[in-house]
Amino acid sequence: MYSVELRDATKRYPGGGAEPVVALDAVDFVAEPGEFVAVVGPSGSGKSTLLNVLGLLDDPTDGRRLLNGTDVTELSVAERTEARKDSIGFVFQDFHLLPTLTAVENVALPTAFDPGDATAYAADLLSRFELGDRLDHEPSELSGGQKQRVAIARSLINEPTVLLADEPTGNLDTETGESILAEFERVKEEGVAVIAVTHDPRVEEYADRVVELTDGVLVGGVPDEMAPADGSSPARTVGSVTEPENR
Ligand code: ADP
Ligand code: MG
Repeated sequence: MYSVELRDATKRYPGGGAEPVVALDAVDFVAEPGEFVAVVGPSGSGKSTLLNVLGLLDDPTDGRRLLNGTDVTELSVAERTEARKDSIGFVFQDFHLLPTLTAVENVALPTAFDPGDATAYAADLLSRFELGDRLDHEPSELSGGQKQRVAIARSLINEPTVLLADEPTGNLDTETGESILAEFERVKEEGVAVIAVTHDPRVEEYADRVVELTDGVLVGGVPDEMAPADGSSPARTVGSVTEPENR
């Protein structure tokens, strides 16, 4: 069973002109429980689109998407909300913190627990990121790196099985970057699939696997041992019993 998977997934956006933009081009991707995958690639190559599609924020135009082994390509609004709350933690590149809530309120916001427990756990998460003395500060009173750590704490509040992060160490100095990576390592050890878009060599070093996007084409999205030896897309597809040829 895999935490999150795309099979032959394409995402096209209407381009404004005659040609649509192909943000993801026939992408095969698997992140298993307890795996840390770094996503690299130039600007505009589809990295954020990949995270959005994996995180149920956007849907593939073609292909399939699976979460914990269940096909979640097409979901109702209610199913999507439920699946995101139960399974997905998301760290947005620009944080998406609510300006009128304090740090601890922002972290507790997506919680399914009762508010008392949530506030205690939110405070605990913030302390792990050296923000224990900033619980009651609003985002406007926090630095970029501090806001980023609040966003990361919020992504962990519902104990996700899949953690998706867009440039999670982008605003952090070396030391706080290390504390974030240590936390990712900890949740990974607990079986969370961690997928991080990054330009940071430290993140690539931490990762179990680095996958690369170029113009929507993903290289290395499926671990070598699961892919056929000739380098073509995996032969297995939903509803098919096809086996890879080279075994
Ligand atoms: P990256 O995160 O690697 O910089 P993105 O995933 O944001 O790349 O974008 C990939 C491509 O898809 C780009 O050409 C971008 O302009 C386009 N794109 C992304 N989101 C949209 C959208 N909502 N509507 C139209 N085009 C989009
Ligand atoms: Mg992006």
